[in-house]
Amino acid sequence: HTGRTDELITLTERVTAHNYHPLPVVAAEAEGAWVTDVDGRRYLDCLAAYSALNFGHRHPDIVAAVREQLDRLTLTSRAFHHDQLGPFARELGELAGKDLVLPMNTGAEAVETGLKVARKWGYEVKGVPEDRATIVVAEGNFHGRTISVVSFSTDPEARTHFGPYTPGFRVVPYGDAAAVADAIDDTTVAVLIEPIQGEAGVVVPPDGYLSKVRQLCDARNVLLVADEIQSGLGRTGTTFACEHENVVPDLYLLGKALGGGIVPVSAVVGDHAVLDVIHPGEHGSTFGGNPLACAAGLAVVGMLATGTWQRRAAELGEHLHARLRELVGHGVVAVRGRGLWAGVDIDPDLMTGRAASEALLDEGVLVKDTHGSSIRLAPPLVVSRDEIDLAVDALARVLSRH
Ligand code: PLP
Repeated sequence: HTGRTDELITLTERVTAHNYHPLPVVAAEAEGAWVTDVDGRRYLDCLAAYSALNFGHRHPDIVAAVREQLDRLTLTSRAFHHDQLGPFARELGELAGKDLVLPMNTGAEAVETGLKVARKWGYEVKGVPEDRATIVVAEGNFHGRTISVVSFSTDPEARTHFGPYTPGFRVVPYGDAAAVADAIDDTTVAVLIEPIQGEAGVVVPPDGYLSKVRQLCDARNVLLVADEIQSGLGRTGTTFACEHENVVPDLYLLGKALGGGIVPVSAVVGDHAVLDVIHPGEHGSTFGGNPLACAAGLAVVGMLATGTWQRRAAELGEHLHARLRELVGHGVVAVRGRGLWAGVDIDPDLMTGRAASEALLDEGVLVKDTHGSSIRLAPPLVVSRDEIDLAVDALARVLSRH
């Protein structure tokens, strides 16, 4: 590296807690699918901030909406009304086919909100005895970093030494509907799942899994809570990943791309029958549903309402997966995913996911490893076919050198 990069990494490592191990690149500017570092090198962004940048860096329509809002009103708290929340919630509700939106900021907050809503629904609507509610979750899940959420993580790194843990969760293997059925009893208020597990390595469940879980939830009077924080909002070629099995959950948990890559915006979206259990004073957030967040979210929802982003992700996703499949047997063991989202298992004898990510960085492509020898690709949906080829060609070069 030249001076600026090393200097800034050294500074950052010296003064921040080491809760991340970033790749050695220091971003300074970005536009669309491209990032420029502090030393002027350009990189194709094939991570897109874990899908928070679905529309690319600084999409002009979102920037314009946010800039316009910055000049008018940024924050009121929910002590007062403002003119952005109603329009945002109406449009998001319409996109999701649901009555109501409960706005928060981060993904983990949306998950916590979903858990609270499900428990309260369980006591007040389903009639579960007080403090007995259980929620069924999947092995390999990633729903965030709060105490309750890591309480039902199966990743030792995420969980160890953060106890005592929040009780009330039952963990079952992902993709196994029979295991969900066995875990449900009269205390069960919800099944919480990612329709595709992101952090686990872009794990797509077997066909029929989501629809079977939906049927089980209907039969046993249990809420289906879909964490679409990473899978939703266009990434997989549809607005929601649940659509691939024509499944409609009781609650959608949304985040990441909802803020257009500019501000943190998350939400729980559902119908009156569920979200009406929350009354004034029972849940909230100072920044949740703030005017700036709503302006960004409204722009994002408007873009998704056209359907063009979803179609683009589906079409370009076909190309990405076709190209990646060519590498199977040439340093790649398996490729998973849907739309513009791929988990690539590299032959562990060849290199780790971290080593592959670093080699791709040298090739001018930003990706991130997950567990062991996997990397995940999630380019912004503005990426072109040629740029996808550029990324896959770079991966092929990296693999062939070893
Ligand atoms: N849920 C899923 C499926 C995620 O992928 C993530 C983040 O990666 C989260 C929840 C947590 O979101 P946040 O990091 O905004 O709290």
